[in-house]
Amino acid sequence: MGNRCIDDDILTILWTPEQLFQKVCELASQITYDFSTPNSSPPVVVGVATGAFLFLADLVRNIRLPVTVDFVRAESYGSGTTAAGAPKISCDLKLDVAGKHIILVEDIVDTGNTVSCLISYLEGKGATSVSVCTLLDKPARRKVHFKLLGDGKFYSGFECPDSFVVGYGLDFNERYRNLPYIGVLKPEMYE
Ligand code: 5GP
Ligand code: MG
Ligand code: MG
Repeated sequence: MGNRCIDDDILTILWTPEQLFQKVCELASQITYDFSTPNSSPPVVVGVATGAFLFLADLVRNIRLPVTVDFVRAESYGSGTTAAGAPKISCDLKLDVAGKHIILVEDIVDTGNTVSCLISYLEGKGATSVSVCTLLDKPARRKVHFKLLGDGKFYSGFECPDSFVVGYGLDFNERYRNLPYIGVLKPEMYE
């Protein structure tokens, strides 16, 4: 009775590790270019835990600027695949972000509630600008049309179809985050 292989739970792979790496490098190059202004302090990269941990790790390794890194935790999902209302910040930043340019790193922007809440939170902490860098975007499900702070930009990797995806940081009930690709679970896994 061994543990079953994690890959056996996946119905389809949407993005392979190679496709993810290629996209992460493109986003990192764009960020490096956009934030290379001589007299401006390097940005603070703020990951939204836990989902953004792998994306952030790969992203910052490819940004050619002396960025600083921090995490916040915002909880919008209880368990399962449906949102549980407005997110709350359950783990605060360590760094002082007053007067700083922030790049908020998300695994996926779905309704927009989480990002919207975090932008206001960072604004309250005195950030000069807030950009958002999300690996996946599900624009079809947007409910909150958030406004970026200052001259913040929106960076997005892939447009995601309207299905629940896992892997590369994204979980279902805290599992599947360690998959090196992003895919859709077999329907029986939700039962
Ligand atoms: P929002 O607040 O934009 O509705 O949702 C943001 C959060 O919901 C994401 O950071 C992510 O944790 C979760 N989420 C939204 N869609 C998906 C999905 O397809 N798969 C997974 N695993 N999480 C999702
Ligand atoms: Mg997230
Ligand atoms: Mg989750």
